[in-house]
Amino acid sequence: LEMTLEMRAVIASQACLMILELDFSSFKGWKELIVYPGALKVQRTVTDEFGISHEQASPLSGESWQNGPLILSWDDVERDSYRRHPGSHVIIHEFAHKLDALNGRVNGMPPLHPDMPVEKWSKTLSTAYEHLQQQLYKRKQSINPYAATSPAEFFAVLSEYFL
Ligand SMILES: [Zn+2]
Repeated sequence: LEMTLEMRAVIASQACLMILELDFSSFKGWKELIVYPGALKVQRTVTDEFGISHEQASPLSGESWQNGPLILSWDDVERDSYRRHPGSHVIIHEFAHKLDALNGRVNGMPPLHPDMPVEKWSKTLSTAYEHLQQQLYKRKQSINPYAATSPAEFFAVLSEYFL
């Protein structure tokens, strides 16, 4: 895939949404972006509800590696950038994971502003995450159910809706 100036600007400008009111040090430690023309085909081992492991090929729109590259599918970037559909934005999602990973763990709690109490963040995030779990149990979720897979995904999906 040959990256044009426009493609670079599309990705960079949206990545910067994540660090408005912050600075570029918010992406410290990260330096590599890989852009595929289309979905990434990833082979993974998944365990079903009976405890049986299966090899499964999954198409991904992006991936953020802790201490590694951020990977995007240009097809998905283009879809998300030029059409409006809340809760589906691969650039925001993957860069949210990069922010989340800054304190060494990808757990839904990025480094906070100095005036933001950790306890308040944790309690608010946990309460909202539990609420989503209950909504899913009742099959009444109002956001992308992928957010319920972990607190890290919850933070990334909520960032998509917020921005
Ligand atoms: Zn994710």
